[in-house]
Amino acid sequence: MSARILDGQALAGRLREEITPQVAEFARRHGRPPGLAIVLVGQNAASEIYVRNKLKAGRDVGFRPDLERLPETASLADLLALVARLNGSAVHDGILVQSPLPKGLGGDAASRVFDAIAPEKDVDGFTPGNVGRLVQGRPTLVPCTPLGIIELLTREGIPVAGRRACIIGRSEIVGKPMALLLLQRDATVTICHSKTPDLAAVCREADILVAATGRAGLVTKAFVKPGATVVDVGMNTITDLAVAMQWFPEGHPRLARFHERGSMLVGDVHPDVADVAGALTPVPGGVGPLTIAMLMMNTLRAARARAAT
Ligand code: NAD
Repeated sequence: MSARILDGQALAGRLREEITPQVAEFARRHGRPPGLAIVLVGQNAASEIYVRNKLKAGRDVGFRPDLERLPETASLADLLALVARLNGSAVHDGILVQSPLPKGLGGDAASRVFDAIAPEKDVDGFTPGNVGRLVQGRPTLVPCTPLGIIELLTREGIPVAGRRACIIGRSEIVGKPMALLLLQRDATVTICHSKTPDLAAVCREADILVAATGRAGLVTKAFVKPGATVVDVGMNTITDLAVAMQWFPEGHPRLARFHERGSMLVGDVHPDVADVAGALTPVPGGVGPLTIAMLMMNTLRAARARAAT
Protein backbone atom coordinates (compact mmCIF):
# COMPACT_ATOMS: atom_id res chain seq x y z
CA MET A 1 0.00 0.00 0.00
CA SER A 2 1.20 3.53 -0.68
CA ALA A 3 -0.35 6.33 1.30
CA ARG A 4 -2.40 9.09 -0.30
CA ILE A 5 -0.33 12.25 -0.10
CA LEU A 6 -2.19 15.13 1.53
CA ASP A 7 -0.98 18.13 -0.42
CA GLY A 8 -0.89 21.09 1.98
CA GLN A 9 0.73 23.32 -0.62
CA ALA A 10 -2.18 22.87 -3.02
CA LEU A 11 -4.77 23.45 -0.28
CA ALA A 12 -2.92 26.57 0.86
CA GLY A 13 -3.15 27.87 -2.72
CA ARG A 14 -6.90 27.25 -2.78
CA LEU A 15 -7.32 28.96 0.60
CA ARG A 16 -5.37 31.96 -0.69
CA GLU A 17 -7.75 32.16 -3.66
CA GLU A 18 -10.70 32.08 -1.28
CA ILE A 19 -9.29 34.70 1.07
CA THR A 20 -8.14 37.22 -1.54
CA PRO A 21 -11.61 38.44 -2.67
CA GLN A 22 -12.76 38.56 0.95
CA VAL A 23 -9.81 40.82 1.78
CA ALA A 24 -10.66 43.05 -1.18
CA GLU A 25 -14.26 43.24 0.04
CA PHE A 26 -13.07 44.18 3.55
CA ALA A 27 -10.84 46.91 2.12
CA ARG A 28 -13.70 48.28 0.00
CA ARG A 29 -16.10 48.40 2.95
CA HIS A 30 -13.70 49.80 5.51
CA GLY A 31 -11.44 51.95 3.37
CA ARG A 32 -8.30 50.08 4.43
CA PRO A 33 -6.89 46.55 4.12
CA PRO A 34 -6.51 44.28 7.16
CA GLY A 35 -3.18 45.09 8.81
CA LEU A 36 -0.77 42.47 10.14
CA ALA A 37 2.25 43.52 12.22
CA ILE A 38 5.05 40.97 12.48
CA VAL A 39 7.61 41.63 15.20
CA LEU A 40 11.09 40.20 14.72
CA VAL A 41 13.67 40.60 17.47
CA GLY A 42 17.36 39.99 16.80
CA GLN A 43 18.99 37.83 14.14
CA ASN A 44 17.85 34.26 13.55
CA ALA A 45 18.32 32.74 10.09
CA ALA A 46 15.26 30.46 10.27
CA SER A 47 13.05 33.25 11.65
CA GLU A 48 14.13 35.55 8.79
CA ILE A 49 12.82 32.96 6.30
CA TYR A 50 9.56 32.34 8.18
CA VAL A 51 8.92 36.07 8.50
CA ARG A 52 9.70 36.71 4.84
CA ASN A 53 7.20 33.99 3.86
CA LYS A 54 4.52 35.42 6.13
CA LEU A 55 5.02 38.96 4.80
CA LYS A 56 4.83 37.72 1.21
CA ALA A 57 1.69 35.69 1.93
CA GLY A 58 0.13 38.78 3.52
CA ARG A 59 0.98 40.95 0.51
CA ASP A 60 -0.34 38.28 -1.87
CA VAL A 61 -3.82 38.26 -0.31
CA GLY A 62 -3.97 42.07 -0.13
CA PHE A 63 -3.13 42.78 3.53
CA ARG A 64 -1.01 45.58 4.82
CA PRO A 65 1.83 43.47 6.28
CA ASP A 66 4.33 45.49 8.34
CA LEU A 67 7.63 44.20 9.66
CA GLU A 68 8.62 45.71 13.02
CA ARG A 69 12.24 44.91 13.81
CA LEU A 70 14.06 45.25 17.10
CA PRO A 71 17.81 44.69 17.47
CA GLU A 72 19.31 41.73 19.35
CA THR A 73 20.22 44.23 22.09
CA ALA A 74 16.60 45.31 22.65
CA SER A 75 15.29 44.91 26.19
CA LEU A 76 12.05 43.22 27.21
CA ALA A 77 10.76 46.71 28.07
CA ASP A 78 11.46 47.81 24.46
CA LEU A 79 9.56 44.81 23.14
CA LEU A 80 6.61 45.34 25.49
CA ALA A 81 6.50 49.03 24.49
CA LEU A 82 6.33 48.01 20.82
CA VAL A 83 3.52 45.54 21.55
CA ALA A 84 1.66 48.28 23.46
CA ARG A 85 2.00 50.63 20.48
CA LEU A 86 0.68 47.94 18.11
CA ASN A 87 -2.18 47.11 20.49
CA GLY A 88 -3.27 50.75 20.15
CA SER A 89 -2.72 50.99 16.40
CA ALA A 90 -5.87 51.64 14.36
CA VAL A 91 -4.42 50.08 11.20
CA HIS A 92 -3.16 46.80 12.68
CA ASP A 93 -5.66 44.00 13.25
CA GLY A 94 -3.14 41.26 13.92
CA ILE A 95 0.10 41.14 15.92
CA LEU A 96 2.55 38.25 15.59
CA VAL A 97 5.75 38.13 17.61
CA GLN A 98 8.09 35.68 15.91
CA SER A 99 9.57 32.94 18.11
CA PRO A 100 12.13 32.18 19.36
CA LEU A 101 12.98 35.41 21.18
CA PRO A 102 16.66 36.09 21.93
CA LYS A 103 17.79 34.30 25.11
CA GLY A 104 19.02 37.63 26.52
CA LEU A 105 15.40 38.74 27.03
CA GLY A 106 15.03 36.16 29.81
CA GLY A 107 13.34 32.78 30.21
CA ASP A 108 9.85 34.20 30.74
CA ALA A 109 10.01 36.73 27.87
CA ALA A 110 7.66 34.79 25.57
CA SER A 111 4.93 34.47 28.21
CA ARG A 112 5.35 38.13 29.24
CA VAL A 113 4.89 39.15 25.61
CA PHE A 114 1.88 36.87 25.03
CA ASP A 115 0.33 38.25 28.21
CA ALA A 116 0.70 41.74 26.73
CA ILE A 117 -0.78 41.23 23.25
CA ALA A 118 -4.39 42.42 22.93
CA PRO A 119 -6.45 39.18 22.66
CA GLU A 120 -8.48 40.55 19.74
CA LYS A 121 -5.23 41.04 17.76
CA ASP A 122 -3.65 37.73 18.84
CA VAL A 123 -3.59 36.03 15.42
CA ASP A 124 -1.29 33.27 16.74
CA GLY A 125 -3.86 32.35 19.41
CA PHE A 126 -1.23 32.25 22.17
CA THR A 127 -2.61 34.73 24.70
CA PRO A 128 -4.04 33.25 27.93
CA GLY A 129 -7.54 34.49 27.11
CA ASN A 130 -7.61 32.84 23.70
CA VAL A 131 -6.09 29.62 25.07
CA GLY A 132 -8.74 29.62 27.81
CA ARG A 133 -11.53 30.07 25.27
CA LEU A 134 -10.15 27.15 23.26
CA VAL A 135 -10.09 24.96 26.39
CA GLN A 136 -13.71 25.95 27.11
CA GLY A 137 -14.80 24.99 23.60
CA ARG A 138 -15.64 28.54 22.45
CA PRO A 139 -12.56 29.35 20.39
CA THR A 140 -11.98 32.71 18.74
CA LEU A 141 -8.38 32.95 17.49
CA VAL A 142 -6.80 29.48 17.44
CA PRO A 143 -3.09 28.60 16.90
CA CYS A 144 -2.42 28.42 13.17
CA THR A 145 -0.68 25.04 12.84
CA PRO A 146 -3.37 22.87 14.48
CA LEU A 147 -6.07 24.96 12.80
CA GLY A 148 -4.46 24.22 9.42
CA ILE A 149 -4.39 20.50 10.21
CA ILE A 150 -8.11 20.51 11.03
CA GLU A 151 -8.79 22.36 7.76
CA LEU A 152 -6.79 19.73 5.87
CA LEU A 153 -8.55 16.78 7.53
CA THR A 154 -11.95 18.37 6.87
CA ARG A 155 -11.33 19.20 3.23
CA GLU A 156 -9.75 15.79 2.57
CA GLY A 157 -12.85 14.10 3.99
CA ILE A 158 -10.94 12.35 6.78
CA PRO A 159 -13.40 11.53 9.56
CA VAL A 160 -12.48 12.64 13.08
CA ALA A 161 -15.60 12.00 15.19
CA GLY A 162 -15.39 8.70 17.03
CA ARG A 163 -11.83 8.02 15.80
CA ARG A 164 -8.77 7.51 17.93
CA ALA A 165 -6.28 10.36 17.58
CA CYS A 166 -2.78 10.32 18.98
CA ILE A 167 -0.55 13.39 19.16
CA ILE A 168 3.16 13.10 19.84
CA GLY A 169 4.25 16.38 21.44
CA ARG A 170 2.62 18.55 24.10
CA SER A 171 3.79 22.05 23.18
CA GLU A 172 1.58 25.10 23.66
CA ILE A 173 1.70 25.95 19.95
CA VAL A 174 1.03 22.53 18.40
CA GLY A 175 0.43 19.52 20.65
CA LYS A 176 -1.99 20.90 23.25
CA PRO A 177 -4.20 22.98 20.92
CA MET A 178 -4.22 20.09 18.41
CA ALA A 179 -5.52 17.77 21.13
CA LEU A 180 -8.26 20.25 22.07
CA LEU A 181 -9.41 20.78 18.49
CA LEU A 182 -9.61 17.02 17.86
CA LEU A 183 -11.40 16.49 21.17
CA GLN A 184 -13.96 19.17 20.24
CA ARG A 185 -14.57 17.20 17.05
CA ASP A 186 -15.33 14.09 19.10
CA ALA A 187 -12.11 12.16 18.61
CA THR A 188 -10.76 10.03 21.46
CA VAL A 189 -7.47 11.77 22.06
CA THR A 190 -4.17 10.61 23.53
CA ILE A 191 -1.26 13.01 24.02
CA CYS A 192 2.20 11.41 24.05
CA HIS A 193 5.50 13.06 24.92
CA SER A 194 9.13 12.38 25.68
CA LYS A 195 8.26 10.43 28.86
CA THR A 196 5.61 8.17 27.29
CA PRO A 197 6.55 4.48 27.61
CA ASP A 198 5.85 2.11 24.68
CA LEU A 199 5.37 5.08 22.37
CA ALA A 200 5.10 3.00 19.20
CA ALA A 201 2.43 0.74 20.73
CA VAL A 202 0.36 3.73 21.89
CA CYS A 203 0.62 5.38 18.47
CA ARG A 204 -0.34 2.17 16.69
CA GLU A 205 -3.82 2.49 18.22
CA ALA A 206 -4.44 5.72 16.34
CA ASP A 207 -6.60 6.32 13.28
CA ILE A 208 -5.09 9.82 13.15
CA LEU A 209 -1.48 10.24 14.24
CA VAL A 210 -0.01 13.75 14.54
CA ALA A 211 3.76 13.96 15.05
CA ALA A 212 5.06 17.26 16.45
CA THR A 213 8.35 16.55 18.19
CA GLY A 214 11.20 17.99 16.12
CA ARG A 215 12.87 14.54 16.13
CA ALA A 216 13.70 13.59 12.54
CA GLY A 217 12.34 10.18 11.59
CA LEU A 218 11.06 9.32 15.08
CA VAL A 219 7.87 7.88 13.58
CA THR A 220 8.57 4.64 11.75
CA LYS A 221 6.27 1.97 10.32
CA ALA A 222 6.12 0.38 13.77
CA PHE A 223 4.16 3.44 15.01
CA VAL A 224 1.44 3.28 12.39
CA LYS A 225 -1.78 1.29 12.21
CA PRO A 226 -2.38 0.17 8.62
CA GLY A 227 -4.54 2.72 6.83
CA ALA A 228 -4.10 5.46 9.47
CA THR A 229 -3.80 9.14 8.59
CA VAL A 230 -0.38 10.48 9.56
CA VAL A 231 0.19 14.23 9.92
CA ASP A 232 3.83 15.26 10.07
CA VAL A 233 4.34 18.65 11.72
CA GLY A 234 8.10 18.28 12.28
CA MET A 235 10.58 20.50 10.47
CA ASN A 236 14.12 19.21 10.84
CA THR A 237 17.18 20.09 8.81
CA ILE A 238 19.58 17.27 7.94
CA THR A 239 23.12 18.22 6.96
CA ASP A 240 24.86 14.83 7.34
CA LEU A 241 25.05 12.75 4.14
CA ALA A 242 25.06 9.45 6.04
CA VAL A 243 21.80 10.46 7.76
CA ALA A 244 20.31 11.72 4.48
CA MET A 245 21.00 8.30 2.93
CA GLN A 246 18.93 6.67 5.67
CA TRP A 247 16.01 8.72 4.39
CA PHE A 248 16.22 8.39 0.63
CA PRO A 249 17.98 5.81 -1.60
CA GLU A 250 20.73 6.80 -4.04
CA GLY A 251 19.13 8.21 -7.19
CA HIS A 252 16.11 9.63 -5.33
CA PRO A 253 15.45 13.26 -6.37
CA ARG A 254 15.48 14.40 -2.73
CA LEU A 255 18.97 12.95 -2.28
CA ALA A 256 20.13 14.58 -5.52
CA ARG A 257 18.94 17.92 -4.13
CA PHE A 258 20.78 17.22 -0.87
CA HIS A 259 23.99 16.78 -2.88
CA GLU A 260 23.40 20.22 -4.49
CA ARG A 261 22.47 22.11 -1.32
CA GLY A 262 24.22 20.23 1.47
CA SER A 263 21.05 20.07 3.55
CA MET A 264 17.44 18.98 3.40
CA LEU A 265 14.24 19.56 5.32
CA VAL A 266 12.56 16.45 6.72
CA GLY A 267 9.75 15.75 9.13
CA ASP A 268 9.34 13.59 12.21
CA VAL A 269 7.94 10.78 10.04
CA HIS A 270 10.21 8.45 8.07
CA PRO A 271 9.16 8.15 4.40
CA ASP A 272 8.77 4.34 4.75
CA VAL A 273 5.60 5.08 6.70
CA ALA A 274 3.92 5.66 3.32
CA ASP A 275 3.93 1.83 2.92
CA VAL A 276 1.58 1.46 5.91
CA ALA A 277 -0.39 4.72 6.29
CA GLY A 278 -3.60 5.43 4.41
CA ALA A 279 -2.80 9.13 4.06
CA LEU A 280 0.28 11.18 4.86
CA THR A 281 1.33 14.83 4.81
CA PRO A 282 4.70 15.44 3.14
CA VAL A 283 7.55 17.60 4.45
CA PRO A 284 7.99 20.07 2.89
CA GLY A 285 4.63 20.91 1.34
CA GLY A 286 2.29 19.58 4.03
CA VAL A 287 1.52 21.37 7.27
CA GLY A 288 3.93 24.31 6.78
CA PRO A 289 2.03 26.13 3.99
CA LEU A 290 -1.25 25.61 5.84
CA THR A 291 0.12 27.31 8.94
CA ILE A 292 0.72 30.45 6.91
CA ALA A 293 -2.70 30.20 5.22
CA MET A 294 -4.34 30.02 8.66
CA LEU A 295 -2.41 33.11 9.77
CA MET A 296 -4.09 34.92 6.88
CA MET A 297 -7.49 33.51 7.90
CA ASN A 298 -6.96 34.57 11.52
CA THR A 299 -5.90 38.07 10.49
CA LEU A 300 -8.99 38.51 8.33
CA ARG A 301 -11.15 37.16 11.18
CA ALA A 302 -9.53 39.58 13.64
CA ALA A 303 -10.00 42.49 11.23
CA ARG A 304 -13.68 41.70 10.75
CA ALA A 305 -14.26 41.32 14.48
CA ARG A 306 -12.57 44.68 15.21
CA ALA A 307 -14.47 46.40 12.40
CA ALA A 308 -17.74 45.08 13.81
CA THR A 309 -17.18 46.59 17.28
P1 NAD B 1 8.62 21.62 21.22
O1 NAD B 1 10.09 21.38 21.24
O2 NAD B 1 8.02 22.75 21.96
O3 NAD B 1 7.90 20.29 21.73
C1 NAD B 1 8.32 19.03 21.32
C2 NAD B 1 7.45 18.00 21.99
O4 NAD B 1 7.85 16.73 21.52
C3 NAD B 1 7.58 17.99 23.51
O5 NAD B 1 6.28 18.00 24.05
C4 NAD B 1 8.29 16.69 23.82
O6 NAD B 1 7.79 16.05 25.00
C5 NAD B 1 7.99 15.83 22.61
N1 NAD B 1 9.09 14.92 22.31
C6 NAD B 1 10.38 15.24 22.07
N2 NAD B 1 11.10 14.11 21.85
C7 NAD B 1 10.26 13.08 21.96
C8 NAD B 1 10.41 11.68 21.84
N3 NAD B 1 11.59 11.12 21.57
N4 NAD B 1 9.32 10.92 22.02
C9 NAD B 1 8.11 11.47 22.28
N5 NAD B 1 7.91 12.79 22.38
C10 NAD B 1 8.97 13.59 22.23
O7 NAD B 1 8.23 21.63 19.68
P2 NAD B 1 7.04 22.35 18.84
O8 NAD B 1 7.21 23.80 18.91
O9 NAD B 1 5.72 21.74 19.18
O10 NAD B 1 7.45 21.87 17.39
C11 NAD B 1 7.56 20.50 17.06
C12 NAD B 1 8.07 20.38 15.64
O11 NAD B 1 7.12 20.95 14.77
C13 NAD B 1 9.38 21.11 15.36
O12 NAD B 1 10.10 20.37 14.39
C14 NAD B 1 8.93 22.42 14.76
O13 NAD B 1 9.90 22.99 13.91
C15 NAD B 1 7.73 21.96 13.99
N6 NAD B 1 6.73 23.00 13.75
C16 NAD B 1 6.27 23.09 12.49
C17 NAD B 1 5.29 24.02 12.19
C18 NAD B 1 4.79 24.10 10.79
O14 NAD B 1 4.15 25.06 10.43
N7 NAD B 1 5.03 23.07 9.96
C19 NAD B 1 4.78 24.87 13.19
C20 NAD B 1 5.25 24.71 14.49
C21 NAD B 1 6.22 23.76 14.76
